[in-house]
Amino acid sequence: MGLKTPEEFKESLRDGREVFLAGEKVEDVTTHPKLKVAVETAAFDYVMPEMPEYRDLAVVKDEKTGEEFSRYFYRPKTGDDLLKRHELMLTASRLNYTTTPFAREMIDSFNGCVVTAHAMGNKDYIERTDAYLEHLKKNDLSLAGAITDVKGDRSLRAADPKQRHGDYYLRVIDKNKEGIVVRGAKVHITAAPYVNELLVMPCRNMTEADADYAVAFAIPANAKGIKMVAHPFDWHRGPFDFPVDLPVRSHTDALVIFDDVFVPWERVFLCGEWQYAATTVYNFAYLHRHTAVTYHIAWVELIVGLAAAIAEYNGIKRASNVRDQMTELIFYLNTMKSLARASCMDNVVHGGLAIPNPVTANCAKYYYANNYHTITKIVEDICGGLLTTAPTYADWQDSEIGGYMDKYLGGTANASAEARLRVLQALRHYPCLGMELDVNNIHAEGSLMAARLAIYGEARQDLELYKKLAEVLSGVTKTSWEEYVDLCEDLSKIGKGDSEV
Ligand SMILES: Cc1cc2nc3c(=O)[nH]c(=O)nc-3n(C[C@H](O)[C@H](O)[C@H](O)COP(=O)(O)OP(=O)(O)OC[C@H]3O[C@@H](n4cnc5c(N)ncnc54)[C@H](O)[C@@H]3O)c2cc1C
Repeated sequence: MGLKTPEEFKESLRDGREVFLAGEKVEDVTTHPKLKVAVETAAFDYVMPEMPEYRDLAVVKDEKTGEEFSRYFYRPKTGDDLLKRHELMLTASRLNYTTTPFAREMIDSFNGCVVTAHAMGNKDYIERTDAYLEHLKKNDLSLAGAITDVKGDRSLRAADPKQRHGDYYLRVIDKNKEGIVVRGAKVHITAAPYVNELLVMPCRNMTEADADYAVAFAIPANAKGIKMVAHPFDWHRGPFDFPVDLPVRSHTDALVIFDDVFVPWERVFLCGEWQYAATTVYNFAYLHRHTAVTYHIAWVELIVGLAAAIAEYNGIKRASNVRDQMTELIFYLNTMKSLARASCMDNVVHGGLAIPNPVTANCAKYYYANNYHTITKIVEDICGGLLTTAPTYADWQDSEIGGYMDKYLGGTANASAEARLRVLQALRHYPCLGMELDVNNIHAEGSLMAARLAIYGEARQDLELYKKLAEVLSGVTKTSWEEYVDLCEDLSKIGKGDSEV
């Protein structure tokens, strides 16, 4: 088949999938007034290969057949491969008006399965993941990652009989010669209503008692028994807003219900091997936290730009307090950028795949999520109260009062009232400010605790070396010069990502 056009991608979504939104069944996600913006946003993944200047970035040539396929389906083997992927996602987000297309980024979840298949050395799983990758490439498919279970009582494990019922985590309820039957629900699944395939995996480690819950597989989004409840979102522009010629870009997510869904064996990548649930989800998470920081960079560039614009329009650009605040924003943006790139360069190799450095990728996610509210606080402070109290475009147009707005809401000699109002509107409308965005930053791609656990888990062994250094330098441990040189050598390896699992 080869590369799809954006129109072919949209056509592929008219497949009888069961999507519900605000109490109604959606006939066609590509035309539904509340979903079509999200479909267009995802379609950008199919636009980029058609742009001659970005084709080399978006597309890779098969070494054997010479056929072209999306770079997302290229298995990264080196730091350079990861950096190319980083560049692709960031460029796509910038070109897509700061919003990542998210139609293939969740290949991260499939790659978690690939690492696990190789870590197990399981021939069947290796063959199945290889075949599925070919299927994705050949048909140029899009996919969502369905990882987060609804979980019920968070203090209890999946199979704990004290849970209200056994389906708070997705599980296998039947098996036969042809495949497995699964039941459960995954929540907050970005782009699920408007991609071709769902990649499902456990959201946490499992114990032996939880073996039925240790399951990973791929399934078409229109498979029998899958019902999706899409989250209605508002893309803001209405009659009260200054018109902007650029298209709106945004995503939504869904509660995905698996009502006894059959999955053929060739699409099952984990089934009962509870010891490998953690390998699958952690390797997904290392990749995905890097993906997350990458596309957040495009948002933050816009936030910094809007803050700089309003500071200039209000005549406070050179004030020392505002310069300090702008410095804080620049520091935030550049730390994100540096951590994102460093995680690629100091990658580790797991199951033959280059994986962004686990500690650095989690530090990147934790850093931007933990500081996001500080950053929005700074921007809100610089803007002043007009950020929320600004009159509307309808008032601006009114023949009686529009002139007063022009006169009284202007800024410096060069800053018209319209420019000020437009920049403030952009801050409210782009994915920058507001409760929904605050929550997205904290939880999307894993909670703060998940990142902290990963950082500690991955860096725990490094602490021993640092402790050894402290004990040597404080005289607690006597060490020869040769031993001390060896210790320094070991210290220099930390974070360089040379492990192979
Ligand atoms: C916008 C958005 C998009 C998302 N997209 C996707 C997606 O595409 N695919 C996907 O699979 N998921 C997605 N997620 C889900 C995301 O990964 C989860 O929101 C995140 O992992 C937190 O899980 P939760 O929402 O169930 O919150 P909870 O697990 O309920 O966490 C809430 C709080 O409880 C704490 N907590 C939970 N369990 C325990 C425990 N046992 N002990 C101590 N503290 C605990 C957490 O640390 C946190 O502070 C998305 C989320 C958002 C907000």
